[in-house]
Amino acid sequence: MPARDFFHSVMRIGPVQIGTHRDRRGRTKHAAVCTNDQCGWSADYSSQSAAQLAARTHRCRVS
Ligand SMILES: [Zn+2]
Repeated sequence: MPARDFFHSVMRIGPVQIGTHRDRRGRTKHAAVCTNDQCGWSADYSSQSAAQLAARTHRCRVS
């Protein structure tokens, strides 16, 4: 998983961790990060519910 400064893990859904971090403008972003090293998927969302939805629907590229 990519290194993220100030990443605070909030919850975990399957292989995906949901957490918050600050972007360069100091705004809180909700990130969904797959913990499968061979997948490497991650994305930022403006709300935690959106990040949760993405985590639930995420399908790893590797099994
Ligand atoms: Zn994945």
